[in-house]
Amino acid sequence: MSITLHTLGLPRIGKARELKTALEGYWKGGLSETDLAATAREVRGENWRLQNRQGMSMVNVGDFSLYDHVLDTSFLVGHIAPRFAAARVDRELDRYFGAARGLADQHIEPGAMTKWFDTNYHYIVPEIGPSTRFEARPAALVDQIREAREGGYTPKVQLLGPVTYLYLSRGIDGFPVLSVLEDLLSAFRGILTSLAEEGIRWVQIDEPILVLDTLNQDWRQALARSYAVLGRSRAIPGTDEAAGSDSQDTPKLLLTTYFEDVEEELETLLALPVDGIHLDYQRNKGLLDTVLEGLGPDRVLSLGMVDGRSPWREHIPALAEELAPLYQDLGDRLWLAPSCNLLHLPWSIAGEDLPRELEGVLGFGVEKLQDLSALGAVLEGHSNHLDTIQNRTAPWGSEELEDSADDLVDRQDSSTREALQAEALGLPRLPTTTIGSFPQTREIRALRRAWTRGELGAADYQAAIRDVIRENIRIQEEIGLDVLVHGEPERSDMVSFFAERLDGVWASRGGWVQSYGSRCVKPPVIFKPVSRKPDLGWEWVTFAQSLTKKPVKGMLTGPVTILKWSFAPPNVAPQVIANNIARALREEVLELETQGIAIIQIDEPAFREVLPLKRSRWSQALDWAARAFRLSHSGVKSETQIHSHMCYSDFNSIFQGIKAMDADVISIETSRSKGELFAELAEKGYTQGLGPGVYDIHSPLIPRTEEIRERLERALAHLDPARLWVNPDCGLKTRTWQETRPALEALVAAARQLREAR
Ligand code: GLN
Ligand code: ZN
Repeated sequence: MSITLHTLGLPRIGKARELKTALEGYWKGGLSETDLAATAREVRGENWRLQNRQGMSMVNVGDFSLYDHVLDTSFLVGHIAPRFAAARVDRELDRYFGAARGLADQHIEPGAMTKWFDTNYHYIVPEIGPSTRFEARPAALVDQIREAREGGYTPKVQLLGPVTYLYLSRGIDGFPVLSVLEDLLSAFRGILTSLAEEGIRWVQIDEPILVLDTLNQDWRQALARSYAVLGRSRAIPGTDEAAGSDSQDTPKLLLTTYFEDVEEELETLLALPVDGIHLDYQRNKGLLDTVLEGLGPDRVLSLGMVDGRSPWREHIPALAEELAPLYQDLGDRLWLAPSCNLLHLPWSIAGEDLPRELEGVLGFGVEKLQDLSALGAVLEGHSNHLDTIQNRTAPWGSEELEDSADDLVDRQDSSTREALQAEALGLPRLPTTTIGSFPQTREIRALRRAWTRGELGAADYQAAIRDVIRENIRIQEEIGLDVLVHGEPERSDMVSFFAERLDGVWASRGGWVQSYGSRCVKPPVIFKPVSRKPDLGWEWVTFAQSLTKKPVKGMLTGPVTILKWSFAPPNVAPQVIANNIARALREEVLELETQGIAIIQIDEPAFREVLPLKRSRWSQALDWAARAFRLSHSGVKSETQIHSHMCYSDFNSIFQGIKAMDADVISIETSRSKGELFAELAEKGYTQGLGPGVYDIHSPLIPRTEEIRERLERALAHLDPARLWVNPDCGLKTRTWQETRPALEALVAAARQLREAR
């Protein structure tokens, strides 16, 4: 007998990002649909080969996607929002990409994008309204099943479950999404029937909403109803009747959950008539006894044994020992898998230049599967595997759970600071500024490339960057902005720039993770307590300040954002890591202050990402996140003005944290807001400075002065004019100077008109 090993999905961007290259080629028109399809096939083939080589008992079909798996689900159930259904396209494939990216030539907006649970992956939000109809369209999936069979593999099909699909959807104008459930279930049943006809024995059906602690009775009922229809005793959609039991001819369902424990919904989960259940092992250890009781005599329990979200490798012999009694008990009803889809990890660590302390300790997707098959082998008694597995201990892996930031010095109260800063800075009312970055021109990117390749010496590179800064300052003075920035020409990315300059952080060469569509990020790995190497680049800011009499705002990425956009060390509490990063940043902040920089902006675009999946833990998370932010500027003078920036304006869930950050000014993305936000903020007692983005930098459109003035007036209706700042809604690095210059001129003109009018 051999133990069943499987995955919950693999990265699909290709081991060297082949799919990214192909997609972008296709979108630009340089690559044919046939060639794109060939690349897609190669990526699937490579994934199946890997699963096969690592001894997986079945390979997954349905985890591959050309853009996004939620969008794929929409197409699979025949649900295409009317504006895309009506679009004129040459090829059907372009309708799919249109739904993901919009069709600019026909003024069709893309579907909204949002984060997949608490990961950095973004999915396309399905739109559900009164006209939504579903229909099984399994053809593309069936093709992939046949493709896998031709390769000689045994396929398991992976689907996003109907209830999670609806939960992640948006009801148009408040339309109740659950009202379409029965119709959706008919489509799912149709799909399962087709899969049965293809001889599929197992279907992995993902219902990750089962880990949330906020499901109400309606959602629980939807789960019960769905699996009554799709599960073992299949009911006929739209009725209460059960179809004749044909369970031999229909696939078995493995219901998967991941990312968290299932504590709150354990009862709901166990009552579903499915043939197997998958849980994240580490997070559900304490619930296993109850799970075993509820599992019954013939269901499968799949356990996620290797962490699919973290690059740290498990200690396999220890895991095997823990698992042995369970294996004794369950026999071949125990399956092993990674905890979740490996999509959230890069492909492989092979070929990376690892610091010695990380060798054998760190692994990506391929290595996780190696570990999984080693675990299977050890469990089955092939103990020879044991010798090859070293004791894998992370350099910062011992349980560090608390850091109450005792070195945090509270600032004077905000009104005292406000008065002192007003006097020190002498800014006009409605001061104008930008968020930090200026256009990253082709020349700047070429400079950085030449420098990293060694074609340009450090001195020449620095001289060239200084020239860019000189030019940035000159332009800002010409435009007449009040608070200037150096423009961040030295930074390719706001997190990796700092990661590279912190000791204790490792940056991979090719560790790419899909963020959305063809976009990938390369998260740095924090592996030991971090410290500031000589500096974090304050000299660029002080150089800029030396060129002007106006204040230049220093610019750093905050501790919470650095943490959330990196891979964190195992077993160390997030607040411990955040505080640790904050202390390294604080040295830089204090250095900037010593050098005469009077305004320092600590960006926290990822601040709200501290919110855990479980709502009961939100308050605590906001508390430590705000504390880490305060720690990063702890000790500055009251006269020094601390800014922060966030790329959103939905503060409802994080307001407690925003207040507790105790920044003097926060700039936010709100160019599309109609003003409700300002009323809300005023009502909640927000009294700090606020810089609502007055135009959308994501669009190439150049805002008119009147538009900006109107937006400011909307804010002024609710906020104290002494606390209002005027700025774009985000950094300008993706824009051109042709767009940026007139936009900023309009911004300055609008502020001046309002000052005169008051
Ligand atoms: N200071 C950064 C910039 O202007 C902020 C980027 C961000 O908000 N993500 O580019
Ligand atoms: Zn931003």
